[in-house]
Amino acid sequence: MDIVVVGAGIAGLAAAHLFRVDGHAVTVVERDKDADRTAGYRLHLDPTALAVLKKALPDHTFSALEYSGTRGEAFTHLVVLDEQGRTRLRIPRGDESLMIGRRPLRRILLRELGDAVRWGVHAARVSHDNDRVSIRDQADRVIAEGDLVVVADGTGSLIAADVIGRPTARPAGVIGIAGRTPLTADTCPVVPDDLWRGPGFVVGPRATTAFLATHRPEANPTHAEVSPDLEDPYLLWSLVLDGEDRPRSDLLRRALAATTSWSDPLRELVRRSDPDSVDAFVFYRPVDLTGWPAGRVAVVGDAAHPIPPTAGIGASIAIADVGDLAAALRSSGDPTTAAEAMQQPMLRRAAQAQRSSSRVLAARSALRREALRRPVLGAVLPTLDRAIRLQTSKRD
Ligand SMILES: Cc1cc2nc3c(=O)[nH]c(=O)nc-3n(C[C@H](O)[C@H](O)[C@H](O)COP(=O)(O)OP(=O)(O)OC[C@H]3O[C@@H](n4cnc5c(N)ncnc54)[C@H](O)[C@@H]3O)c2cc1C
Repeated sequence: MDIVVVGAGIAGLAAAHLFRVDGHAVTVVERDKDADRTAGYRLHLDPTALAVLKKALPDHTFSALEYSGTRGEAFTHLVVLDEQGRTRLRIPRGDESLMIGRRPLRRILLRELGDAVRWGVHAARVSHDNDRVSIRDQADRVIAEGDLVVVADGTGSLIAADVIGRPTARPAGVIGIAGRTPLTADTCPVVPDDLWRGPGFVVGPRATTAFLATHRPEANPTHAEVSPDLEDPYLLWSLVLDGEDRPRSDLLRRALAATTSWSDPLRELVRRSDPDSVDAFVFYRPVDLTGWPAGRVAVVGDAAHPIPPTAGIGASIAIADVGDLAAALRSSGDPTTAAEAMQQPMLRRAAQAQRSSSRVLAARSALRREALRRPVLGAVLPTLDRAIRLQTSKRD
């Protein structure tokens, strides 16, 4: 079968590997000119996503992933810190996940795909031509065609909106500003101790809610597959602020203005960010999680169901989606049946992720009120814990 994938992001690249393993011919069209400017931070991949990737990737490529990230030792607990950086709550965890930067993840997923990925190609719409389905560009020229198209072009996909008949994303009312602070001899002593063994949330009556995590991928130096993709150690900080528009300038200044209630050392970690790493993004949520007539087009990942990053689960469920699609194609051998069959598990999984992420956002406002702080903390922490543990398996 010929399969065309739109988007060389996390879902699109995982899909390309899975289809190739099953003997299909795959073309991936990607808007970016190359992978060099891949932005983003450390992602958390859950055991279900890792099981899909293990099936999809050659052994040496999967072990390159493992060696380019961190495992359980970096996630022995989840903590809640106050504005002084003092631990208020600690939830022990035994984590089977992988924490890996978006850039090394994408670069490793690109290995072995070679010419199958066509860079600098902006897909505009899908058209059906008898038993084939085509991707067209903005001038309505056919840029690729196949027996099945997989739409994996991320949040706010116009192609997905066209195929499904409605937009798939709407703003969640909050934005994030995030950055990476290099972990050096100067910054390491300032990092709260508990953050070396797991991520934390800063919360408090006056505090801007923030997610903090240290990331220290330490590869085995003898592992030849890894070194070009390794990142220098950093602290990831991510603030959640009210708003629906992405601010484009003065991001670090805005971040510092939002953290005036933090202790000086904690705030210093934001101040010492790598300026090129500071970015802002709008949080989106899904519009409607019901199915649609699929035809020869499958819509997966953020293109179908953007989930605010407060659940830390979007990449994992995007990978689980393409795992389901490949399995459905394997068992039915028919693109239309497969695109239809994978929808219900995908939408159930997305609804569960959306609930977890919304609970965290709702709790954020309540945490500002002293009287509600203790009961809300009690309610939200198990949710955070569940969100991170959320299994995207067949149990759904
Ligand atoms: C700050 C932040 C932190 C996050 N942390 C986590 C986390 O810890 N764990 C987690 O699981 N998830 C996390 N997420 C969410 C996760 O990044 C996304 O859910 C995931 O990237 C979705 O994968 P995708 O393949 O659907 O989309 P993407 O990875 O966004 O890929 C879409 C691709 O399509 C391309 N494209 C777009 N339009 C076109 C077009 N018209 N033609 C051709 N190509 C096109 C884009 O250039 C891109 O390469 C986080 C998100 C953010 C913003």
